Amino acid sequence: MLQQTQVSTVLNYFPRFVTRFPDVQSLASAHLDDVLALWSGMGYYSRARNLHRCATLVVQQFNGEFPASAELLQTLPGIGRSTAAAIAAFCFGERVAILDANVKRVLTRVLGFESDLTVLSNERVLWDKATALLPTRDLLESMPRHTQAMMDLGATVCTARKPACVRCPLQTVCVAHSQNRVLDYPVKTRKLKRSAESWWLVCAQHKNGDIFMLQRPVPGVWAGLYCFPVWSSRVLLWSQLSAVQRKKAEEHPALRHVLTHKDLYLYVVTIEWTEKKDPASAGLWMPPAQAIKLGLPAPIHKMISKMIEVIEVF
Ligand code: SF4
Repeated sequence: MLQQTQVSTVLNYFPRFVTRFPDVQSLASAHLDDVLALWSGMGYYSRARNLHRCATLVVQQFNGEFPASAELLQTLPGIGRSTAAAIAAFCFGERVAILDANVKRVLTRVLGFESDLTVLSNERVLWDKATALLPTRDLLESMPRHTQAMMDLGATVCTARKPACVRCPLQTVCVAHSQNRVLDYPVKTRKLKRSAESWWLVCAQHKNGDIFMLQRPVPGVWAGLYCFPVWSSRVLLWSQLSAVQRKKAEEHPALRHVLTHKDLYLYVVTIEWTEKKDPASAGLWMPPAQAIKLGLPAPIHKMISKMIEVIEVF
């Protein structure tokens, strides 16, 4: 959960999640929809899907016990080299280095590492340097401590824009600080290219209050989550609505939803649905109070919550 998400947000989800799935067996035997429902609103849903597949594999291939080495942990879905190293260091005291974004920042600054980290071979060099700095004794105790310290330093002191060098325990050995070039590190020349996409979503509502929900295709944006039916353009949507529906359609201003690599502009159109034909070939009608319990992307969750508030007021 903490990959890409702040602790304060995770605190709202983690207790519920571990209460519902207290061990790897219960998670493995759960339906993916139930897992996504508990993840609903936290974003980066591939983590939930990977976690579920990971639990299944641990049960099927490792007899319900997580493998005890970073090398084997990396073979599981959703566990990359750095996460595998973190698990192995914390749980088994293995002498392996993590290299997440926070730790990369600390290391490149402390070492004055000038090579471009978008080049894989340079990242490997940094990984070797991180390994050379690991403790060599009392690993069961020293490895969790070292790993936690690196993570915390990057998250709370050596931050991206405003590093607190005055209270940093590494200040006296930090090359970037001595050069007065702290913000020049880490060096990354290739910038992430962002794109934009617009979606037209039809929030179809029956007279009895039911709304029409559809499961998103896998793979893709919001894969496996429930959403309103989506059209890629207004022209396309309008061409499929009857004259009566077009008249009834209420268009809302676009909402911008930020994903990792793209901005999603959501144009929601609410329509009181009187047609016999459903808004899409697959999907289900259900009361908003039932829809809110499904795995929903954050903006859809917000819209349905608002609907429920309005219904409760009346
Ligand atoms: Fe980061 Fe400043 Fe500490 Fe260097 S001295 S590690 S730049 S916080």
